Amino acid sequence: MNSNELETLIRTILSEKLEPARRDNTTSALFDEVDQAVGAARAAFLTYQQCPLKTRSAVIAALRRELAPHLQALAERGAEETGMGKVEDKLLKNRAALENTPGVEDLVTTAFTGDEGMVLFEYSPFGVIGAVAPSTNPTETIINNCISMLAAGNTVFFSPHPGAKNVSLWLIEQIEAIMFTACGIHNLVTCLREPGFESTQQMMKHPDIALLAVTGGPGIVNMALHSGKKAIGAGAGNPPSLVDETAVIDKAAQDIVSGASFDYNLPCTAEKSLIVVESVANALLAEMQKCGAMLITGGENIDKLRRLAIIDDHANKAAVGKSPAALLKMAGLPVPDKAPRLLLAEVPADDPLVMVEQLMPILPVVRVRDFDAGLQLALKVEGGLHHTATMHSQNVSRLNKAARLLQTSIFVKNGPSYAGIGVGAEGFTTFTIATPTGEGTTSARNFARHRRCVLTNAFSIR
Ligand code: NAD
Repeated sequence: MNSNELETLIRTILSEKLEPARRDNTTSALFDEVDQAVGAARAAFLTYQQCPLKTRSAVIAALRRELAPHLQALAERGAEETGMGKVEDKLLKNRAALENTPGVEDLVTTAFTGDEGMVLFEYSPFGVIGAVAPSTNPTETIINNCISMLAAGNTVFFSPHPGAKNVSLWLIEQIEAIMFTACGIHNLVTCLREPGFESTQQMMKHPDIALLAVTGGPGIVNMALHSGKKAIGAGAGNPPSLVDETAVIDKAAQDIVSGASFDYNLPCTAEKSLIVVESVANALLAEMQKCGAMLITGGENIDKLRRLAIIDDHANKAAVGKSPAALLKMAGLPVPDKAPRLLLAEVPADDPLVMVEQLMPILPVVRVRDFDAGLQLALKVEGGLHHTATMHSQNVSRLNKAARLLQTSIFVKNGPSYAGIGVGAEGFTTFTIATPTGEGTTSARNFARHRRCVLTNAFSIR
């Protein structure tokens, strides 16, 4: 085949690939079939790939600017549709995703030079990413993934959670319109009008999906890991919070109540249990109650809470992300006039409330003899998920020991768990914390191929 024939063939392939987007001929990113939606995202990728980096920056700047007025509505719609979480906190989470997810600047080039020339390492796109979002952070994950993945030069087929379908589709349509206005390319993000589990499975097998990025529970993450494709898996966690006798107790109390009650404990990073050294346990619980937590006492009352929260060793979906007052009511316990921020219950170390990821504002509390016993329990509770842990202590060696042994993707010292996702703390924001696959707090560079480009015998100017 000569070069003219080759060029004609490439043009034909490209025009065929562009067909679904043209045929659709709307500004909507929504399709009926997986194949159409992936095809349109693939066609968009082939055009986007030819654009300079400044186009990517312009697209992301437009998103940050144009989505900002919609954040309140996203928080309200998200909470209303899923029936989970707290609007004020969802607003903070959506804002953090929009403002604090890194863009193109995250793709840092490295170079080595020497007598024999130069080697460049650069990040370049995969193609179309299949991104699965959870119901617990539906719009936050879409905004965060969208910025990271588009900064890296990819396009995205989103599989939103069916339980958050309306708000997710609405957001994806807004994103499509904003990005088309910014760069003239349709379908940089696509989705199905009726997203569902079956279509997510189809997407995972589609030949034009180059990479999977799955944020959700163990079922869907395992499915991606067994798909035969490269997958970034952001799975479940069960973050313990460990407090030793050297901690600044009133600050620890404030931080733990703030972190564990944030968005009614929906974030996978939120404190899910409290492990406290016996000698400071009473003082800590007293301070936590001053911060708005309510201590549930009496075996029968704790039983009622346990029966509500956990069914067959799993979190009761009907109670996930509900307010403390709603949980008290659902459990048949009296609700005080002033709604508590968080419910506390002292339980044994092996209690299901400790061992099961609940995602609700019930914080089980376990007393331990000393720091070492606490760390052993924290290791058991975290269960090797490599997700998140927090610790409150003034003892640097112990903080260091816990961080090394726990091997979590996020380890927060002397702060609320949400400090680990860049809310009210240093560091960028992410809502995809890749735990089993090890990328940790993901950003643009994790959604890119790391490529090596070599020039021999030149460009060393030292
Ligand atoms: P989920 O597992 O119910 O759903 C996640 C996504 O997977 C949804 O989009 C859903 O449609 C899809 N899905 C689920 N089962 C599927 C199946 N069998 N086939 C095809 N698609 C399927 O999760 P959720 O309840 O929305 O989210 C909560 C879980 O996600 C918690 O375990 C939480 O810890 C975890 N999570 C992890 C992170 C992280 O960054 N590591 C972030 C948020 C949530």
